[in-house]
Amino acid sequence: EHPIYGRIDGPIVIIGFGSIGKGTLPLIERHFEFDAAKLTVIEPDAAKANFLRQHSINHLQVALTPDNYREVLGGLFAEGKGFCVNLSVDTSSLELMTFMRELGVLYIDTVVEPWAGYYFGTSDNAARTNYALRQAVRDEKARNPGGTTAVSCCGANPGMVSWFVKEALLTLARDTGREVETPSSREGWARLMQSLGVKGVHIAERDTQARRVPRARGTFVNTWSVEGFIAEGFQPAELGWGTHETWFPENGHRQDSGCQAAIWLERPGAITRVHTWCPTPGPQFGFLVTHNEAISISDYYTVGAGADPEYRPTCHYAYHPCDDAVLSLHELFGSGQQQERHHILTEDEIIEGIDELGVLLYGHEKNALWFGSRLSNEEARDLAPYQNATGLQVTSAVLAGMVWALENPEAGIVETDEMDHARCLEVQRPYLGPVEAHYTSWTPLQDRWAQFPEDIDESDPWLFRNVLAS
Ligand code: NAD
Repeated sequence: EHPIYGRIDGPIVIIGFGSIGKGTLPLIERHFEFDAAKLTVIEPDAAKANFLRQHSINHLQVALTPDNYREVLGGLFAEGKGFCVNLSVDTSSLELMTFMRELGVLYIDTVVEPWAGYYFGTSDNAARTNYALRQAVRDEKARNPGGTTAVSCCGANPGMVSWFVKEALLTLARDTGREVETPSSREGWARLMQSLGVKGVHIAERDTQARRVPRARGTFVNTWSVEGFIAEGFQPAELGWGTHETWFPENGHRQDSGCQAAIWLERPGAITRVHTWCPTPGPQFGFLVTHNEAISISDYYTVGAGADPEYRPTCHYAYHPCDDAVLSLHELFGSGQQQERHHILTEDEIIEGIDELGVLLYGHEKNALWFGSRLSNEEARDLAPYQNATGLQVTSAVLAGMVWALENPEAGIVETDEMDHARCLEVQRPYLGPVEAHYTSWTPLQDRWAQFPEDIDESDPWLFRNVLAS
């Protein structure tokens, strides 16, 4: 019933056994042949030990640090082959992928993560941006091109949404009567987006998953890593900055080195609201939380280069997390205190809701197109164990990325924009529930409040100035 996509020779090491690690394991077991005796989970949290023991999974109860990672991973991968699946917080993606490539071990992660302390250890906001984290990985790719494949940022977003952008572009081309061949190069994709008149992309997400009991005060509740969400929510808001923008935010900063595709705002992303749209709610507020894909997509679809290219789309996350997470953020930022208790909603306690995660391509002749997955928790539970809808959108992208890496083992460091999106979606799609395209006539100038004048520019509804909520 479940296709086997290949054999992983040598050890498999899963780093981190939180909501994503635990959900990825059954997909690895289902879709790959490997030597079970050589699968190890590295997880410092003692609370995870019982489950691993009961399922006869080798468990190394240790936290990776800058001081021990070479010894720990070097020992596990002594054979110089295998697959390192990094699904933890607080480990440096760059250092781990560099080491794995040195050893000839395939590598995948879902975020460019730094070592512990990075997110809160400095008041230099420029240094805390995803731009800086991503650029360091891009610089490593430029310094050491090719070699053993390391897939960077292959979760739902960043990750799957980059494959959705390509599907959405082909859908839009078809629906506007253009005859296009699927581009085979980055330049080709960028030209296609430009020729379709796309001004920008929201990663537009609405998570409606909810449980029966109300959130307890003092507990941060989310549908995936609370630690990860607090960390990224407290980074500066960040977005890929398109060539159609005519205004510049007062608290905005440009970049003067690297690809220069993005800007950042002197404000935490999790309290920066934007006007956006998803199929279920229609118009809604989302949070402009910084994400790797906001930068990578703007960079990938650039025609030209540098700070002043011929064409570049604006791109950013517009995230409405589950209602309990919205309340949790409200409490956190209002009090200035991080909650001590964290809780990730499990598939068994969620009684309703879906994670509606897609890309909203806007500014073209059909106004706006949302393309994405509308996976319910109920369906996720039928499809695979140990995860809610949010988790399955992430872990099935990890699966697709692993399959692609096995099939392309010498591709060097890649982001999901640079992978074969059709192959990846072919692997992932059975786990995504309804994947749908929706056109809308909504623009950010609609549904405002006439009683309160705002700083908007009606000459082009899709300017970021209009998207940013006052
Ligand atoms: P989680 O908080 O549930 O689990 C993280 C796990 O990492 C915990 O079990 C923790 O004990 C472990 N850990 C902490 N420090 C460690 C260390 N030094 N060495 C080894 N393990 C360590 O998080 P999650 O929801 O499973 O998410 C895991 C990662 O995936 C996070 O970085 C998150 O940002 C990322 N993520 C990406 C996407 C995406 O779509 N791209 C979506 C969800 C999560």
